[in-house]
Amino acid sequence: MGGQPMFILSEDTQRTRGQDAQSSNIAAGKAVSQAVRTTLGPRGMDKMLVSDAGDVVITNDGATILGEMDIEHPAAQMIVEVAETQEDEVGDGTTTAAVLSGQLLAKAENLLDDDVHPTTIVEGYNEAAALANEAVEGLVLDVDDLDDDRLRAVARTSMTGKGTGDVNAEALAETVVDAVRQVEGDDGVARNEISVRTQTGAASSATELVEGVISEEEPVREDMPTSVEDASIAVLDVEFDIRESSVDAEYDVTNIDQLNAALDAEEKQFKQYAEKLADLDVDVAFVTESIEDRAAASLAEEGILAFESVGDDEAKSITQVTGASRVGAIDDLESDDLGNAESVSVESYGDDDLAFVEGGAAAESVTVFARGSTDHVTDELERALNDGLDVVTAALDAGGVVPGGGASEIAIADHIRDRAASIEGRRQLAVEAFADAIDVLPRTLAENTGMDPIDALVDLRSRHDSEGRAGIISEGQTGQVTDPVEAGVFDPAAVKYEALESATEAATMIVRIDDVISADN
Ligand code: ADP
Ligand code: MG
Repeated sequence: MGGQPMFILSEDTQRTRGQDAQSSNIAAGKAVSQAVRTTLGPRGMDKMLVSDAGDVVITNDGATILGEMDIEHPAAQMIVEVAETQEDEVGDGTTTAAVLSGQLLAKAENLLDDDVHPTTIVEGYNEAAALANEAVEGLVLDVDDLDDDRLRAVARTSMTGKGTGDVNAEALAETVVDAVRQVEGDDGVARNEISVRTQTGAASSATELVEGVISEEEPVREDMPTSVEDASIAVLDVEFDIRESSVDAEYDVTNIDQLNAALDAEEKQFKQYAEKLADLDVDVAFVTESIEDRAAASLAEEGILAFESVGDDEAKSITQVTGASRVGAIDDLESDDLGNAESVSVESYGDDDLAFVEGGAAAESVTVFARGSTDHVTDELERALNDGLDVVTAALDAGGVVPGGGASEIAIADHIRDRAASIEGRRQLAVEAFADAIDVLPRTLAENTGMDPIDALVDLRSRHDSEGRAGIISEGQTGQVTDPVEAGVFDPAAVKYEALESATEAATMIVRIDDVISADN
């Protein structure tokens, strides 16, 4: 085929090429990372985000901030995706990843200005990222030391600086580690068996671990018991209702006697259901379908606590906690199908009723019951708790922990610079630029901690050289350069691997683009 390929763009198409395209993309990426920079670290500030509809979110969480911002620029959107990936993969380090992407772009811009070809930058960045990975591997602390104390420290590191109300980080960290330990099995941590449920109306220090699940259901009738100890539990996918509930569709009713007979027959059926449950000594029934009024009355008469229209996820969790099997017909129900809980109790919180199903030490699902005075507090507490749960899970299941407070970044940059010397040609510049970009993390931590960033960086490097490890540890109003391991500041290694990978990927992708063609709309 000889002809030249030809693209015919509509007149409305906007096209930016070459350096213009690059600098516009880079500027957009940098701007996004700039937006979250001040939130990095324990003394980072919060952002208040107000939506079009006037909803307010107050948060310190990178992924949440970027998710709430209405970001349109496609290159900027890629940095947002970095934060999202980070959140999905490890659940922490979103600000770190976004800030690093932005700085990789800023350094790439300098290289482009110096006429380093984009391909060379991409190669150098990838090479540096591999060196960085190598460095993280060397930083992982002894796995044998991953005891509860250390896990609590990891959890605390991820949660400090999030607005967690009046509750101290130590207590929260303890709750988090207890939760993870409870669902830890031979195959690792069953992270999806831990839920966080928020409820306003109490101080956040009332946050506690429930060894079981909390269901948002209320009993179908008020005259049912609201608290049962050592409860036998049935989980039923059964409709407590006569099929085609309209009476005259089932019976040919011609006079009042027949109608009464029909109603009696139904009532008898419901009674039989309730009696069957009572015969099996069922105390509590979680029913995923609806329960008709008269059926509910029969259940109440038998002293059974029943919930209707229980969600599928909740039904699953309840079976996990109690060991019950779900049964699809009352006739099929046998005592083997019943589960057991230490207690089932219904408690009222303002307008909301919550049912606590507590399985005790054997519960395979647990719930962190997060309390706070307002929605803003509980929402941010929930994010903090999820971060804590994620980092402890990552520490146990995905490669241990590394020193925090910027110490790992100092070591990574040092390792890269060390190796850069032996790299030929202009690629060396790109590798060095990558190391310089990593510096943004300890520098920003220093800045947000109220230290002079240049002095701090110099101090960090010299302490790193002399003592092998140095980080920024925030203390009161300021921070100091010291050993993060001694100070109990750790991040999961997975946070670092993931941040390095996704930040590098996004930055190199953006640098490679030299032509932006957009349909005008
Ligand atoms: P991210 O969204 O990246 O997790 P954070 O605001 O949670 O951002 O900040 C994480 C950084 O803060 C990590 O580098 C962590 O080591 C550091 N950090 C956490 N606690 C402390 C502390 N007490 N002193 C210094 N640095 C800390
Ligand atoms: Mg964090």
